[in-house]
Amino acid sequence: MLTSNSSSYSNSNGNCSSASSSSNSSFSSSCVQVSRDVQQQLVLLRLLPDSPGLQFPEIWLRDNCQCSTCYMQQTRSRLPQGWNYLDPSVRLQQLSWCAERQSLQISWSDGHKSSFPLSWLKERDFSPASRARYLRDCYRPEQRLWSGTEFQRIQREFLYDELLHNDEALLQWLHQLAVYGLALVKQAPLDSNVLRNLCNRVGFMRSTTYGDEWSVKAQPGASNYAYLAAPLPLHTDMPYFEYKPSITLLHTLQQSDSPGGWNLLSDAFHVADLLRQRYPGAFKVLSETPVDWADIGSEKNLRFHNIWRAPVINLDANGRYVRINLSIPQRDSHFSVPAEQVRPWYEAMALFMRLANEQACTFKTTPGDVLTFDNVRMVHGRTGYDDTEQNIRHIVGAFLDWDIAYSRWRVLKNDLGHYNK
Ligand SMILES: [Zn+2]
Repeated sequence: MLTSNSSSYSNSNGNCSSASSSSNSSFSSSCVQVSRDVQQQLVLLRLLPDSPGLQFPEIWLRDNCQCSTCYMQQTRSRLPQGWNYLDPSVRLQQLSWCAERQSLQISWSDGHKSSFPLSWLKERDFSPASRARYLRDCYRPEQRLWSGTEFQRIQREFLYDELLHNDEALLQWLHQLAVYGLALVKQAPLDSNVLRNLCNRVGFMRSTTYGDEWSVKAQPGASNYAYLAAPLPLHTDMPYFEYKPSITLLHTLQQSDSPGGWNLLSDAFHVADLLRQRYPGAFKVLSETPVDWADIGSEKNLRFHNIWRAPVINLDANGRYVRINLSIPQRDSHFSVPAEQVRPWYEAMALFMRLANEQACTFKTTPGDVLTFDNVRMVHGRTGYDDTEQNIRHIVGAFLDWDIAYSRWRVLKNDLGHYNK
């Protein structure tokens, strides 16, 4: 067995009998070339002579030792015993490759010994391509932003019965929702179990101050603007929650026979992209000015007063979109920013609303449809309509959360073998 010590850079062929000659042509599948970059404190593995190698920081290897003192297989988690804190002074002392067990063997300066299977290492490689693949395949699929004119191209329909009984269909529905933010479920029965059944297939419903499920019917004297028949401008649901419900499901039980009642939907991440390109000043204002979103009222016996302060466009540390907040009725008259920031915000908002309306797609659901969309990303609305005594538009809504939906997406991908494709 060949070893390398920490005092020098070493590039050794592992314990592979056929690789003892200097020729690279003797590589076989069981042969792995192990080396160190002492300067960067990296362990490098090369599986084939001309493949881009795998790389692992030494301190990370020590932290992720797989022995039974350091790692509990049963809970799939790191154990704190003897490793309450990361001692950054620990150094790699000896490094070798065991061909028989296909594993990397390391001795550390604290006397500990570690062994890492090749399959485990491959999944955790730090090279840029491997990290990108993990993020795309396991963390979250890459979102594709779209304009209203692309609606026909990106939209996909799923059959209710298939979602209840076919895991592959369930996975495809969640994938469509994650990538495009929108999916239409067709042929659901006109009964009260539909949203509960769909949510239970994913995990569980997200409850709010309006209960588990809510009914959208025109109601004179309604407690919420959505319960009126007037046009409903583009909005996200419940921006006044820090933990905003993140997937909306709308089940059409009865659609309006009047010319109105059309759905409007706009990919607000795409709208934000347009604003960023065309009006960078307005983009900056909408992504930096906190707005007071609020909802005051009561539902059944619960009185509530919800407030969340956040910009319309919310970005992460890398400038990527994490959330859109928008609702005209639920934007409070309290606007807790310095007075000079107010007019620029209204001017930026006018541009955003114009773009959001220009980019909206329109369609009209029919009874048995369940419209599902990403409430973090999409803004939705509805044209006005008229009820008659024989025709009362009736939609039932419920929420799911992305944490639960992504978890189900990963479990399904794993169970259905999609990770290896
Ligand atoms: Zn260990």
